[in-house]
Amino acid sequence: MKKTLYTLFLAFAASVASAQDINKIITKDYVDHLIKTLSSDEMQGRRTFTPGIDKAASFIEGEFKQIGLKPLAGASGYRQTFYKYQFKPVSAKVTIDGQAVPSENIVVVGHNNEQLSFDQTNSDGFIKLDPSKDFITQYRGLARSGKKQLVLVDVNFVDAFNRLKGQAGRAVDEKDLNPAKPSAIVFVLDKDTVAKDFKVELKNEIVKMPLFNVAGIIPGKSKAKELVIFSGHYDHMGIVKAKDGDSIMNGADDDASGTSAMIALAKYYKKLNNNERTLIFVAFTAEEIGGFGARYFSQQLNPDDVVAMFNIEMIGKDSKFGKNTAFITGYDKSDFGQILQKNLAGTEFTFHPDPYIKENLFYRSDNATLAALGVPAHTISTDKIDVDPYYHQLTDEYKTLDVENILSTIKAIAKSAVSIVKGIDTPTRIPKLGQR
Ligand SMILES: [Zn+2]
Repeated sequence: MKKTLYTLFLAFAASVASAQDINKIITKDYVDHLIKTLSSDEMQGRRTFTPGIDKAASFIEGEFKQIGLKPLAGASGYRQTFYKYQFKPVSAKVTIDGQAVPSENIVVVGHNNEQLSFDQTNSDGFIKLDPSKDFITQYRGLARSGKKQLVLVDVNFVDAFNRLKGQAGRAVDEKDLNPAKPSAIVFVLDKDTVAKDFKVELKNEIVKMPLFNVAGIIPGKSKAKELVIFSGHYDHMGIVKAKDGDSIMNGADDDASGTSAMIALAKYYKKLNNNERTLIFVAFTAEEIGGFGARYFSQQLNPDDVVAMFNIEMIGKDSKFGKNTAFITGYDKSDFGQILQKNLAGTEFTFHPDPYIKENLFYRSDNATLAALGVPAHTISTDKIDVDPYYHQLTDEYKTLDVENILSTIKAIAKSAVSIVKGIDTPTRIPKLGQR
């Protein structure tokens, strides 16, 4: 009897403590500190492969250490490093009918070799883009063709051509380097035809570049093999051409807000110290250049072990449903959203299904890789993606954020995840997409 009473008292004390503690653990000051630091100019826009993202990673590592997270099984630290190969064009020479094309009028796509030379006799020849059709559609078809070809671009496409030129160097895996059957699509601006012959000579330097996710765990007490993931991407778009005296893409909402939420949740669950399942907290790299970080991370574990993934992306301004609301992408693909909603019953916060189905957000963020592998992996967001004037702009800065919105969303996620963290609820799986 005495023991039962005592147990009851403990349970009561614990529930009171956790209800109070959330406001003490996830404070405005703490969240402010995280977002301000991640979106500061010092981080130089956190572009993958730059010193700025290295700084951001070190900051997140420091926070994880202070919180007391453990590294992933088998890892010695929080950084999960992998490599890609980047191409730095050394030279690209094109001669048409004996005349050299100015270098600013040349863009090469799909060339993964250190050296390549071809002319009209040993290639797929030349074509001319149809000036009456869309540039991008024609470009996409060509970029994937695997051909060796010269493509003449009408001068009316000059803007699209320059955008293509401005794109960052591609990054590929080791297996895609120096293919036995080389390809290159060589776009040449302001040339109408090839009367007699052409010649192409390309040289690349290949540089091995590190990328790193930052990940830490809180081991589960009784269901340690079952994993629950909380994530956000910490990369953004770096330094661009200045506009109104600013050239740093700070990415405060995208996705310093989600990364900060992930860190704050780590702090919260570590303090609670009652998770039956193992919790993984991860800041993904390279979301903005193709989701490489999430893909690498997903390949390091068995997706069947992952019970749920809470990916958090852009929670810096209130959602179209108003204050104390957020939406969940792929809401009807599993019962993840319903479980979260059930745990929020009696609070002022509600989750909604993604209202921007046409935007295809479910497949546009880092949840997509694990979702394709069957994991109930969803993104939680509050962004009005159709009208957000700051999205992917220089103006996505700390001062445009509503920190109260971020705070309330983080706390709602913390409460809504509780039955999954404790191993009581298990969301239904999402049908696997194709093969791994
Ligand atoms: Zn993003």
